[in-house]
Order: sequence, then structure tokens, then C-alpha cells
Amino acid sequence: MTTAVRLAAPLLAMLLLLSACDRPQPVYNSRFLTFGTLTDISIVGVTHERAMRAVETLEDDFAIMNKAWHAWAPGPLTRTNNLLAEGVRFAVPPSVLTLMKKAKQLARQSDNLFNPAVGRLIKLWGFQSDTLEDHRPPEKEAIEKLLAAHPTMDDITIDGIHAQCSNPAVQLDFGAIGKGYGIDLAIEHLKEMGIQNAIVNSGGDLRAIGSRGGHPWRIAIRSPSGSGTLGFLYVSGDESVFTSGNYERNYLWEGKLYHHIIDPRTGYPAEGTRSVTVIHDNATVADAAATALFVAGPKDWHRIARQMGIKYVLLIDTDNIVHMNPAMKKRVQLMDRNQPVEISAPLTDTVTADRP
Ligand code: AMP
Ligand code: MG
Repeated sequence: MTTAVRLAAPLLAMLLLLSACDRPQPVYNSRFLTFGTLTDISIVGVTHERAMRAVETLEDDFAIMNKAWHAWAPGPLTRTNNLLAEGVRFAVPPSVLTLMKKAKQLARQSDNLFNPAVGRLIKLWGFQSDTLEDHRPPEKEAIEKLLAAHPTMDDITIDGIHAQCSNPAVQLDFGAIGKGYGIDLAIEHLKEMGIQNAIVNSGGDLRAIGSRGGHPWRIAIRSPSGSGTLGFLYVSGDESVFTSGNYERNYLWEGKLYHHIIDPRTGYPAEGTRSVTVIHDNATVADAAATALFVAGPKDWHRIARQMGIKYVLLIDTDNIVHMNPAMKKRVQLMDRNQPVEISAPLTDTVTADRP
């Protein structure tokens, strides 16, 4: 063998190896309807057949979860709500118990700004309904009556698999957390099936694991108008990105917009915020936190985020100012360079990334 051939052989092998690493791995994408929204699953690094089977499994999972946590279609949650209102001690349906416990903890951490016990109020506003046509705000007196009863998760005592509620005004609505918990369970299931690289994205709320063939996943943050993109961020490893916005479900009445995120202190749709995006490891926490920080608004989001252990927040207020903590600012690329931005104090004392 000549010296040239001897040198060329390993070089060729190295080049082949490099090009194999560089070649983008095919992404398997699939979409189905769940929780009243489209869910997109992207999977990388396994065969087409395995990815397809995994998506079919997740579709079944989501159908079960949708039924279990539906706030108004008869099922385990409506049965739970009936028993809570009766004040009896009962065995909580297994599909509801864990979520009930998680919701209790997150409600407390958020000073009850995330308050899934206000189901009656959400129903009164008309948001426990498949359509929002011909809706109008409720009477002030009806709102005040429900507020006076002050339903919170603390009214529910959980003892093993049993629960009992001391306040008949409590009705659970998992609209602000169910999707997050569902996505966490879906990701766990994907991992069990040996899938290491994937995104589960339900209507723009997502959890990503691994990478896209060695590259981070690129995530678009939706503009608060509900269409278009405010900016981008990159995610790799295992992280969730959740947004709560007033564009998602709302109706107009006499020229005023009434949206679905209710401030449990006033009984009216929360004011001062257009949308909040949160990044957190866990989708359940990210979902509850995005709702809580929306209610907290531009003045109080920082305090509540710290209480909930959130390290990345972007909030757009009703004056269109983008509020971010320093660590979030470092991760987000905004589309509009002239966008007014206000950077807060760091959210954590220990993470050096959260410095201006
Ligand atoms: P999200 O889009 O995650 O912010 O959730 C909004 C949904 O959660 C609404 O459609 C209601 O079903 C429910 N919800 C509204 N306001 C609250 C609140 N303050 N705390 C908990 N759940 C709420
Ligand atoms: Mg939420």
C-alpha cells in the first residue's frame, strides 16, 4: 500500500463518520386532537415504525386523560366534584388523586393565584363550554356570592386515597394544569418506550427531551395577539415551555374582551397581562405557574415566580412591555429589536446566569 493510500483510508473513514453525524436525522411528526387543541409529537432517533407506534400509544393516553380531567363532560372529575360539594369522605378516583395533590401544592405556592378550586366561577363566566358564541359576562352579584364563599384547595383534606371537602363552593377545574400534567405523563411514557429525543407540543405548550439530531430544539414564542411569533428560544435536555395568554379563549361583549384566566381575588378576568411564558423542567409546574403569573401581573409576577421556584419568565403586559428576568433575556431572541423590554432583578440568588 502506498503512503498516500495508507493516509487516505483513515481520512475517508473519518469523513464518512463526520458526514454521518452531520446528516440531519429524520424527524417523525404526527398530530392529533386532544384537550380541545392540536397536539404535535416530534420524535427523532428511532425507526419510523417505532415512532408511529409510540404516537398511537400517546394518542390513547391523551384520550383517557381528556376524559378523566374534563371539567363538564361526565366522568371522574365531575363525580369527584359532586362528592366534594356533598362534603362526604370518599375514595378519590385514581386518575384524579395525583393531580389533586399536585394542584393543592402549586395553589399554595402561588398564594392561590393559581386556584383550581374556582370551577364554579369559571363556569359562571361561561368558559366551561365547548363554544363561546353568544356569551356575556355574569351579573356582579353572582360573582360576589361565589367570591364570598372563598373556595380554595386548602378546603380539601386528602388522607391516603380519601378526600373530604369542608366548603361546598369548591369545584375543581384543571384547565390550567391538566395539559401540563398530561404532557409530563406522555414524556415519561415515551422514555419508557426507549425514546430519548422528542417534543410533545399541545397547542404551543410543550416539553422537549434530548435534541434534534444533536442540535437544540428551536421553540417559537407566540405573539400575544395569538398569531405570529414574538421570538425564539432554544431548548435541549429536558425542559418545558408554557404560555398563558388572553388570546386563547375569550369573547367580546359591548366592545370589551373577556378572557378565560380569572383572578380569584376579584372574580373577573385578570387585568394587566397579555401573555406569560415560563420555562421549567416540569410541564405540570410550568403550566400552573404560567397561569399564576398571568394573574399576578406585571407588578407581582417576580414574587410569585420565586415562591414557585421558576427561573425563566417572560411576561407581556397590556402596554406591550416585555418583562423578563436576566436569565430569560439571555435565552430569548425577540423578532422586533425595538420591542420595549424591562429586565427584572434575578429570580434566583444562586444561578449566575440570572444576572443582568
Ligand atoms: P391556562 O391556559 O393554562 O392559563 O389555563 C386557563 C384555564 O384554567 C381556564 O380556561 C380555566 O379553565 C382555568 N382557570 C382560569 N383561571 C384560573 C385560575 N386563576 N386558577 C386556576 N385555573 C384557572
Ligand atoms: Mg396553565
